[in-house]
Amino acid sequence: MTSVDLINPATERVVQRVALATVEDADAAVARAVAAGPAWRAVTPADRARLLRRFAEAVDADRENLARLEVENTGHTIGNARWEAGNVRDLLDYYSAAPERLFGRQIPVAGGVDMTFAEPIGVVGVIAPWNFPMPIAAWGFAPALAAGNTVLLKPATLTPLTALRLAELAREAGVPDGVFQVVAGEGSVVGDRLITHPAVGKIVFTGSTEVGKRILAGCAEQVKRVTLELGGKSANIVFADADLERAAASAPYAVFDNAGQDCCARSRILVARGVFDEFMQLLEPAVRGVRVGDPGEEKTEMGPLISAGQRERVASYVTDDVAVAFRGSCPDGPGFWFPPTVLAPVGADDPTWTEEIFGPVVAVAPFDDEADAIRMANASSYGLAGSIWTRDVGRAFRVARALETGNLSVNSHSSVRYSTPFGGFKQSGLGRELGPDALDAFTETKNVFIATEQP
Ligand code: NAD
Repeated sequence: MTSVDLINPATERVVQRVALATVEDADAAVARAVAAGPAWRAVTPADRARLLRRFAEAVDADRENLARLEVENTGHTIGNARWEAGNVRDLLDYYSAAPERLFGRQIPVAGGVDMTFAEPIGVVGVIAPWNFPMPIAAWGFAPALAAGNTVLLKPATLTPLTALRLAELAREAGVPDGVFQVVAGEGSVVGDRLITHPAVGKIVFTGSTEVGKRILAGCAEQVKRVTLELGGKSANIVFADADLERAAASAPYAVFDNAGQDCCARSRILVARGVFDEFMQLLEPAVRGVRVGDPGEEKTEMGPLISAGQRERVASYVTDDVAVAFRGSCPDGPGFWFPPTVLAPVGADDPTWTEEIFGPVVAVAPFDDEADAIRMANASSYGLAGSIWTRDVGRAFRVARALETGNLSVNSHSSVRYSTPFGGFKQSGLGRELGPDALDAFTETKNVFIATEQP
C-alpha cells in the first residue's frame, strides 16, 4: 500500500489521501535525524529553550486549525480537540524550561571531583496511537527535543493530519531541518523499522498492550531504551459515603469522553452494595443526557468511533446475552456511531469486565466492603487510572495506596496534567511520561571522575 484514504468518522466521507512511507523513506528520515544530531546538541540551552517556546507560539496561533483538522480526521469533539492542541502548546512551554535546568550532580568522593551529566540518547522514535494523536505525540517529542535528541514521530496510520501540520509549524518556528520529522506510515512498516534500525536509540510507544509486548521484545534485540503506555480497564469506585449525585453525574464523562477511546476510561464502576440501586437511578438520566452527535458542534459531548472496524469490535461485546441496564442515544445514518451503553449486572469473569473495549461501554458491579472494592479493582492485568469517591479522607488515602494503578483521582476523574507523572502499573505500561522527571527517560546518565590529587 502506498497511500491511505482518511475517512471522516462522522460522515464516512474521504477527507484526504495521504502517502504512506516505505522502509526506504524511514531509513532516509533516520539518516537525516542522525545528521542533524550534533548541531542540535550544540545549540546553547537558552537558544534551544527559545526555539521550543517559538514552536509553542506557532502551535498556539494555529490552535483552531489544528483542532478542526482533528475533528475531521478523528471525530473528536471540537471542545476536546481545542484542549488537545492547547496541550501540545503547554507541553512545549513546560519543557522549554528544561534545557537550562538539565542539572547533573556533584558527588563527594575520595581523590577528586565526581560529576554526572544528562546526555541526550540520540534519535528518538515516537510511535503514537489514533485515539489522542496530538497530546500523546507531544508527551514524547516535547521532552525528547528539550533533552537534545532528534525525533521521528510516526502517527497512527489513520490519523496523521495533525502530526504532519505540527512538523510544518516546527519548521516555521525555526526548528532546524532533521530535528523533528513526521513519517506517516503503517506500524508494520515504519513503526517496525524504527524498532529494528540500529541508529534509533529510544522508542516511546503508546498503543495496545498486544502491540506493546511485541515492541518490547523487538527493542530487547538491541537493548533499545523504551517507554510503553498501553491499555487500561480502570475502576471508578463509589463508596456509600460519597456525594452520590456528583459521582453519578460525572461517571458518564469518565468513560464516554472521546467515545470511550481513552486508555484512562473508567470502564468499570464499582458501587457499594447498600447504595447500588440509588446510584443506578442517578446514573440513568446522566447517561441519557450525554449529547452525542456532530463533533464540530460546540455543544456536542461525544462523537463517533474512529472507524467501522472499531465499531464492529465494540459491538461484538454487546451481544444478546449481555445485560444492558440502559443506553443513551446516537445519530442514525452515516458515521461510526455507537450509543453510550451501561451494562449491569456484570460477572467478574465476563469479558466486558476484564477486557479493554475502547468504546462507550461501561460495566457496573456492586462490592461488599473496602477490602472487597480493592480486591475487585486490582483483579485486572491492567493498572493505568482510577477514581475513588468518598468523603472519608482516611479511606481515600488507604484505598489510593492499595490500588495497583499509576494515576488516581479522588472525587474527580482527572488523570492527565502535563506537570505530573503519568503511566501504568502491570500491563498498562513501562516507565512514566510527563511531569518534572520526564527528561530522565530521554537522557543517559554519564558519570565523570576528575582526579585532583597531586601525583
Ligand atoms: P495500536 O497498538 O494498534 O497502534 C499504536 C501505534 O503502533 C500505531 O502508530 C501503529 O501504527 C503502531 N504499530 C502497530 N503495529 C506495530 C508494529 N508491529 N511495530 C511498530 N509499530 C506498530 O494501538 P491503537 O489502536 O492505535 O491505540 C489504542 C490503544 O492504545 C488502546 O489499547 C489504548 O488503551 C492504548 N493507549 C494507551 C495510552 C496510555 O498512555 N497508556 C494512551 C492512549 C492509548
